[in-house]
Amino acid sequence: MTTLTNLLDLDPAQLVAWCGALGEKPFRAKQLQRWIHQYGASDFESMTDLAKSLRDKLKTRAIVSAPAIISDHTSTDGTRKWLVDVGNGNAVETVFIPEENRGTLCISTQAGCAVNCRFCSTGKQGFSRNLSVGEIIGQLWMAEFELRRTKGIAPGPKGERQITNVVMMGMGEPLLNYEPTVTALKLMLDDNAYGLSRRRVTLSTSGVVPMIDKLSQDCAVALAVSLHASNDKLRDNLVPLNKKYPLAELIAACKRYLDFAPRDFVTLEYCMLDGVNDTDAHARELVALIAKHDLSCKFNLIPFNPFPESGLLRSANPRIKAFAQILMDAGIVTTIRKTRGDDIDAACGQLAGEVQDRTNVQDRMQKMAGYQEKYGKNFGRIVEISE
Ligand code: SF4
Repeated sequence: MTTLTNLLDLDPAQLVAWCGALGEKPFRAKQLQRWIHQYGASDFESMTDLAKSLRDKLKTRAIVSAPAIISDHTSTDGTRKWLVDVGNGNAVETVFIPEENRGTLCISTQAGCAVNCRFCSTGKQGFSRNLSVGEIIGQLWMAEFELRRTKGIAPGPKGERQITNVVMMGMGEPLLNYEPTVTALKLMLDDNAYGLSRRRVTLSTSGVVPMIDKLSQDCAVALAVSLHASNDKLRDNLVPLNKKYPLAELIAACKRYLDFAPRDFVTLEYCMLDGVNDTDAHARELVALIAKHDLSCKFNLIPFNPFPESGLLRSANPRIKAFAQILMDAGIVTTIRKTRGDDIDAACGQLAGEVQDRTNVQDRMQKMAGYQEKYGKNFGRIVEISE
């Protein structure tokens, strides 16, 4: 029996080569790619401008298969979250965040994560496996066309695009699943697929230094780094990867990356943890660190979304504001993330998915209500902070 090729696994060059092996010209690959990624088509028979003989060949050799949707929930603020099946009891989350002038999709690159950051519920679940290209790009493919279907917007390049920005900030460390991640990025940028500009695609890493350099050469999209600490001792504890690639090396890699990046700054993510990394002294230490290395950056302060196993709590809002003020007074652009979708557990830090445990959202909300009874009504709840 011939194994069917999942065409979502192929980047533009690979699709040309694959069609070439079938005796087809490169422009046929472009047509096919447009059907798949711009029209969301998975049925070869519907690809009407392909010759009948090619459609017949495709039917016996290929499929277009995105991960199946396990659950689909929309929050009162419009945030939509899908739990998708990536096989063998693994599931990952994909989250769409609508804003006035843009729609951002947060996608996952691994089921679980080996980095094990202390404040991250994904890390607590351990590493399960790397996602394939089809499973990564399939999240964008599924979400774009699901959103269009919901709104009654026609597929194809003329229909209003729903996803204008992509962030690789879901489950997993993208740079530890390098090749599939880069292949998926190339598809996001390709004009015959999603045609997103490099500025609108952001890869977030916990700091895999050699791979930051490699990415700058292979596919330099916007870069975000999970910093979360102002010195090595603290970061060793919060982001264990720091022991391998300490702050000075990480910041040097960010600076090298900026020579190739589509933006002239790196976004530094900083999860605000009560009493752990959120004092005035930490903020001042950050200011000194950035000044010492002269790094062009922007801070994004993230109110921590607590989960019991972490033993950590979210900094109080006035503390977050005071921390931000110290950075801003030093001339560093700083934003405080308004966390969205908390009623469907799509808030930051809840993007854990249920790797082995596919408890449905209803059950999880009940579980959360139990925690709130025990630890107070703000437990696990994100309070919007105006900037
Ligand atoms: S924060 Fe990112 S890198 Fe760290 S454990 Fe969570 S998913 Fe992995």
